[in-house]
Amino acid sequence: MVKGLGVSSGISIAKAFVIKEEELNIKKIESNPSLELEKLNKAIEQSRNQIQTIKEKASKTLSEDKLALFDAHMMFLDDPEFIGSIESKIKDDKANVDYAINETVEFFSNMFLGMDNEYFKERAADIKDVGSRMVLNSLNKKINDVSLIDEEVILLAHDLTPSQTAVIDKKFVKGFATDIGGKTSHTAIIARVLELPGIVGAKTATKDINDGDMLIMDAINGTIHINPSKELLDEYSKKAKDFLAYKKDLDKLKNEKAITLDDHHVEMAANIGAPSDMAGVLENNAQAIGLYRSEFLYMGRDNFPTEDEQFESYKIVLEKMENKPVIIRTLDIGGDKNLSYFDLPKELNPFLGYRALRICLEQKEMFKTQLRAILRASSFGKARIMYPMVSSLEEIIKANEIVKECKDELDKENISYDKNIEIGIMVEIPSVAIIADQIAKHVDFFSIGTNDLCQYTLAVDRMNEKISSLYNPLHPAILKLVKMVIDASHKEGIFTGMCGEMASTPESTLILLGMGLDEFSMNAPSIQAVKKVIRSTSMKEAKEIAKKALTLDTAKEVQDFAHNELKKLGITVF
Ligand code: PEP
Ligand code: MG
Repeated sequence: MVKGLGVSSGISIAKAFVIKEEELNIKKIESNPSLELEKLNKAIEQSRNQIQTIKEKASKTLSEDKLALFDAHMMFLDDPEFIGSIESKIKDDKANVDYAINETVEFFSNMFLGMDNEYFKERAADIKDVGSRMVLNSLNKKINDVSLIDEEVILLAHDLTPSQTAVIDKKFVKGFATDIGGKTSHTAIIARVLELPGIVGAKTATKDINDGDMLIMDAINGTIHINPSKELLDEYSKKAKDFLAYKKDLDKLKNEKAITLDDHHVEMAANIGAPSDMAGVLENNAQAIGLYRSEFLYMGRDNFPTEDEQFESYKIVLEKMENKPVIIRTLDIGGDKNLSYFDLPKELNPFLGYRALRICLEQKEMFKTQLRAILRASSFGKARIMYPMVSSLEEIIKANEIVKECKDELDKENISYDKNIEIGIMVEIPSVAIIADQIAKHVDFFSIGTNDLCQYTLAVDRMNEKISSLYNPLHPAILKLVKMVIDASHKEGIFTGMCGEMASTPESTLILLGMGLDEFSMNAPSIQAVKKVIRSTSMKEAKEIAKKALTLDTAKEVQDFAHNELKKLGITVF
């Protein structure tokens, strides 16, 4: 069995199609220029023909804008600067063709990555993609073309390139897994967009699995079973069927409100990391963005995003949400999220260290760049600002002063923004949960970040697999804190949302609803499952359930109780 991170739920059973990455070990070897130039021309021609064939195939399933990817690849093959640079390495340095291509691709992709422009950054992936095709052709190596798959398979790769994912035909590709990648990797996003079961970060998948192996891919639990027994196959065939029926049932809820049987309404919101996540948000009809993890705009690049770049990203989301609330969380780096271009000190306890708002309050100019971008974007919809990792009231006051400074600047510059923009905080450190009644007087809303609240309250590192059994949001201490925060907010007439993973787990829904949680924010595909629970119960019943849950002594008791209550409502949870 191979384990990874399930990034879009579902179960697939099919044969493996493994894209093995060959170690090419490209070195410079002094060569005969005319022979190498001949190889280069042949490689260009072969690459051109292959791309043309793939494009023709893909044109049956892909839209015009996606097909443009292949034109971009073709353009590189005709680009005098790109090809000229390869040729001069061959002619002037007597380099071998594969080395000359490789060096040129590295040069251009680094140049694209260094540009302050999303369009050019994407071209870096394209030139690498077309470059590796040219290298393989120049060495007469076989290229695994995803577009040529014509039987049902589960695709496995170290990582998938843009041109591979663009030609995935859902008729044949029943799921895919990659060795690397996290929840927000390109592959994960594609999996969600294509609504295919996907697993990323499956570390040794392409080593442990051979072409043609029979696989069960369970993207709900992030497991891949290799050549399973007949019993397991039967079990999963049934599970896959049940899952499809469950999904179909949930799909019917997309246009419904999250409203209880006795008319209590809660807000179903989505968590996003980038504007590209908006497809899932709209598809699942989220009523708000409860958490926009802005740090992803800062990651995977070589320098801080400018005010304009950030403004554009926030504006796109705000416009797409058409005046529905969008909570933009200010930069939350540190802990496990680092920036290659920002030197964070090595610390013994980075999760308790110099991170998030603590950095922003010190690096004031950097913070102001982001705040100005959010404020400017607030003219295009309903933006809210949220500070992460708040541990005391002083931090909120200091941050608010910086917001005020930015507002004054914008006033002077005659730039418009939402003068009544609401400002709230993540409740993810126990200290603020405990004094939530005092803090509530100074903010417009709370959003409970159970991912961190759990690790800090229970002293359980959220990244440490060895102690993961101790990490349980249904621990009675967490329930008490959550209740305290919700009550404190309501007393001050403000709302409490939750954007930690707990909000997306149907087993917690009845308890959170009964406690009075106002907004549930989660990865968009989970929305309907939580909504289903909300629509199946009454607020009166949920309050009773929450009351009882708060009297239980252990996480296990709470969990069993919650499962039992779901069962009583006839709800199966995958
Ligand atoms: C949280 O801590 O619950 C949260 C939502 O933030 P992140 O997972 O980004 O730390
Ligand atoms: Mg957090």
